[in-house]
Amino acid sequence: MHKVEENIERVKARLQTAAVAGGRDPNSVILLAVSKTRDTKSIQQAAQTGITDFGENYLQEALEKIDILKSLGLKWHFIGPIQSNKTRQIAENFSWVHSIGRLKIAQRLSAQRPSTMAPLNICLQVNIDQEATKAGFSGDEIPLVVEEIAQLPNIKLRGLMTIPAAQHDPIAQRLPFAQLRSLLEKINGSLDNCKKLDTLSMGMSADLEAAIFEQATIVRVGTDIFGPRNKTIL
Ligand SMILES: *Cc1c(COP(=O)(O)O)cnc(C)c1O
Repeated sequence: MHKVEENIERVKARLQTAAVAGGRDPNSVILLAVSKTRDTKSIQQAAQTGITDFGENYLQEALEKIDILKSLGLKWHFIGPIQSNKTRQIAENFSWVHSIGRLKIAQRLSAQRPSTMAPLNICLQVNIDQEATKAGFSGDEIPLVVEEIAQLPNIKLRGLMTIPAAQHDPIAQRLPFAQLRSLLEKINGSLDNCKKLDTLSMGMSADLEAAIFEQATIVRVGTDIFGPRNKTIL
């Protein structure tokens, strides 16, 4: 077996164990393979195990891979920082965007999403630990932003995403995820049934269990699937 396949088996086992321990159906959690900086061969190996969802952070790099792998029918998620001048290509090439941290970006994506495509699924990024270095809305801003974004035609608001400050203690890891979950519940309390948010994009290699205990529906895993990243690239 390839290393990537072995790694995926291990990550899937962790996901399954955490879901069952938390009283959840393991199929309610999507494993998003974060493939930034990885070559197309590694992505193909992951796809062969049945993974369909891949996350990318850098647009030019992603576009090349999307083109090379188009026959595989993969779902591509944009999870990196977004500059305004990149929104058109994101709107035209991705199924999901997790890293919406400004209203203007959502407006541009909606305007630029081709009408021949299904609506673009989006998550609002929440800077849950209020770190100066991290992008995202504050929790306080979210209710108003949700109202504005609900009006936009070609995007579908699916939920919230966060990247908390790194912590080792499993109990401490759960706290920001619990905050994101309760923010989602609060927003859902004010939305019509057909508009309710169904996505919590949270949890990475080091904290996916904590995220699953707090109802994550998408975990974004790079290192534990593909190995350590070259730190000079990222
Ligand atoms: C790189 C990245 C990940 C994956 O992180 P790992 O620790 O390698 O699992 C997840 N989410 C985002 C937004 C990332 O940029």
